[in-house]
Amino acid sequence: MKTEFSLAQLADPDIAEADKILRACVHCGFCTATCPTYVLLGDELDSPRGRIYLIKEMLEKDKPPTQEVVKHIDRCLSCLACMTTCPSGVNYMHLVDQARVRIEQDYTRPLPERALRAMLALVLPRPGLFRVGMILARLARPFTALLPEPKTASASPTLWRRLTAMLALAPGSLPAKGPAAGSVFPAQGDRRGRVALLQGCAQQVLAPRINQAAINLLTRHGIEVVLVKDEQCCGALTHHLGQDGDALARARGNIAVWQSEAERGGLDAILVTASGCGTVIKDYGFMLREDPDFAGPAARISALAKDITEYLAGIDLNPSAQQGNLTIAYHSACSLQHGQKITALPKELLSKNGFVVKDVPESHLCCGSAGTYNILQPDIANKLRDRKVANIAMVKPDMIAAGNIGCMVQIAGGTSVPVVHTVELLDWATGGPRPGLN
Ligand code: SF4
Ligand code: SF4
Repeated sequence: MKTEFSLAQLADPDIAEADKILRACVHCGFCTATCPTYVLLGDELDSPRGRIYLIKEMLEKDKPPTQEVVKHIDRCLSCLACMTTCPSGVNYMHLVDQARVRIEQDYTRPLPERALRAMLALVLPRPGLFRVGMILARLARPFTALLPEPKTASASPTLWRRLTAMLALAPGSLPAKGPAAGSVFPAQGDRRGRVALLQGCAQQVLAPRINQAAINLLTRHGIEVVLVKDEQCCGALTHHLGQDGDALARARGNIAVWQSEAERGGLDAILVTASGCGTVIKDYGFMLREDPDFAGPAARISALAKDITEYLAGIDLNPSAQQGNLTIAYHSACSLQHGQKITALPKELLSKNGFVVKDVPESHLCCGSAGTYNILQPDIANKLRDRKVANIAMVKPDMIAAGNIGCMVQIAGGTSVPVVHTVELLDWATGGPRPGLN
C-alpha cells in the first residue's frame, strides 16, 4: 500500500512503524474472510482491510479521528485472526494499538462513555477494587430487570446496554482469595527449575483455582513457584483501551520487580495462565523499544515470558490416568492462537495426558470476550458467543478447556457444560483434584 507521510512525520518512530506496516499490505482482502466483525456485519469498514485504510487516513492527515473512524476501530476485537490469515505479514496488532492510542488522545467521546471507560480502567486492573465492584454489580443486577430490555441488538450500543452487559457478567458468588503476593511454593523432591507465576488481576478474583492448579502441577513436578511481590496488572486492559500511559507504567513496574526477583533467586521463566496477558507481556520489548532505560530489560522480560503450556511441554508430566477418557472441546483463545501462535501444544498436552481432545469448528473465530469488548460491544459479543457455543456443542464435549479467563467467563455465560482451564485438567491428570466441580 502506498503511503504519503511527510519526512517530518516519519521522524516519529511510531509513524515510521505504521508506515512499514501499511506498506506491507497489498489490499488482497484475504483477511476479511476470517474477521469476526466482517463475518457478522458484512461492512468493509468493519474488516481488517477497511480499518487499515481508516487508520492510514487518520495518521497521514494527522487530524483528530472522526466519529466514523472511532466507531469502526471500536468494533475491532483485537482478536488478530487477520494476522494469522494475512499472507504479507501485516502487523495489524501494532497498527490498531497505535490507532487506539491516537483515538484516546485526540478524540473526545461523549461524557457517559468517557466515564464508563475511566471506571473500567480504574477497577479492572486492581483486584481489591474489582472484588468490591463484583459484589456491587451482583447487588445491582436485580434492578436492571425493572427497566426495558433493548428490542434489537446493536453494533452501536447505548450506555445503558453496556451497563446491563457489565452487570450480567458478574458471577453469583466469589471464591475465597488465593495465595498472597510474595508467597514461594517450594518444589517437591529435587528442584528442577524456578519460575514466577503472573498473578493476574481479574483472574485472581474470579478463579484463583487456575493458578492454584498451576502451582500444584509445577511443584509436584519439581518446579519452585514464586508469586512476585509488588507485581501488578500486566497492562493489557488499559493498553487495549488506548491508555498507553497507564499500560507502560504497569509494564515498567513489572519489569523492575521481575528483574529483581531474577537477580535474587533466578527465574527460568515468567509463566502466564491468561493468554491475553501473555500476549502483551511478550510485546513489552516492542512497547518499550524507544525507552533508553527499559528497552533492554523489557526485551529480556518478554523473552522470559511463557504461556504455561509452553513451559509444561518441556517437562515430562506424570499422568495418573484417573480422568477416564473425557471428551474435551478445546477452545483456542485468540490471544493464544493468533497472538502467540500457540495452537497444537495445549491439545497435545491434553491428549498425552489421557483426554480425548476435539477441535471446535470455526476455531479461528473469537468468542466475543476480548478484554472489555463484551462490556463495550455486548451485542456483537453475544452473537459471537452464541456462535462459539453452538460450534462447541457440535463436538458433544464433557468439558470445555481454554487458556484464558476472559474466554472462560464468556463461554460459560452461554452453556451448561463446565468450562475449565487447560492447566486444571493437566493438574487433575497428574494427581490434582477434578476441576469443574466448584
Ligand atoms: S490479508 Fe494482509 S495484505 Fe491482504 S488486505 Fe488483509 S492485511 Fe492487507
Ligand atoms: S483484530 Fe479481529 S476483529 Fe479486528 S480487524 Fe483483525 S480479525 Fe477483525
